[in-house]
Amino acid sequence: MTPVEALERVVHCLDRAHETGFKTKAFVRALDVVRSIPPDELAERAAAGTLTKLDGIGDSTARLITETLKGDTSYVEKIEAETKVELTDGGARYRAALRGDCHLHSLWSDGGATIEAMARTARSLGHDYMVLTDHSPRLTVAHGLSKDRLEQQLGDVAVLNEKFAPFRILTGIEVDILEDGALDHDDDVLSRLDIVVASVHSKLRMERQPMTERMVRAVASPHVDILGHCTGRMIGKRDPSSFDADYVFAACAQFHTAVEINCRPERLDPPRPLLQMAIDYGCYFSIDSDAHATGQLEWQPLGCNRAAESKVPLDRVINTWTADDLLRWAQAA
Ligand SMILES: [Zn+2]
Ligand SMILES: [Zn+2]
Repeated sequence: MTPVEALERVVHCLDRAHETGFKTKAFVRALDVVRSIPPDELAERAAAGTLTKLDGIGDSTARLITETLKGDTSYVEKIEAETKVELTDGGARYRAALRGDCHLHSLWSDGGATIEAMARTARSLGHDYMVLTDHSPRLTVAHGLSKDRLEQQLGDVAVLNEKFAPFRILTGIEVDILEDGALDHDDDVLSRLDIVVASVHSKLRMERQPMTERMVRAVASPHVDILGHCTGRMIGKRDPSSFDADYVFAACAQFHTAVEINCRPERLDPPRPLLQMAIDYGCYFSIDSDAHATGQLEWQPLGCNRAAESKVPLDRVINTWTADDLLRWAQAA
């Protein structure tokens, strides 16, 4: 293991543990520094004990670099063990059946990693495919993709697909559901993408009836394949939006729009009672990480645990299917 690999692994593990504080920032910073320094210089500095003279290298990151160069990986192993994502026995059956992840972000919008790094990690987690779903233009705080930038991204994805085959990067977007239920890209743009996740990110406190109409209109769109994090809740911070779930899930079932089981630990959306309703309506589901960093791709077990608890029918989980079956379903729906 090289110092760069050790630092990358530590950052990945801190991400999956949802550590966003000072410690993570220090390791990310050190990774940037180490990447920019010739390996010889790094080894000399480690031997001479002058790593901390480098701007961005502190005591703990210097220790990790020095130990790694000596072949000692105990710190990385310790972090690995401390940050394992919990998977229940029931959840394990769902996790084993997953072949892909249908909702994740890259540096193109508000993610922290390249498309390539996300693909490499998704593949290493055993997936056959991932759907790249960066944000749409209205979400300016997240650098949402205009039509032109999306066009450029499709070009990059085509090149990466040659490199990663047989692993597949499917094209997609997390399109904003606007206030009236319209979508934040034209039909011609959406129709070119493999999978479209539609989510509410603004006006979450809207009255129940207009929110219901807004969501029903969005999930009825022939382009929309997945309804992302339906209540918008942030556990302990933001209450779920108010809408008539009977109408929304009936529409999801009717129009073959999968209800996302969002795995982010602060979301875990839908809450259990709503998940049960969606099951009762015969909806499809997608167990998605909504990852914004490579380590977060490891959050799917959290959704799997929940799916197992609620006994989500495994054959209704669209990302247990092959990419070809998923695409056929998306085109037919
Ligand atoms: Zn979202
Ligand atoms: Zn997202």
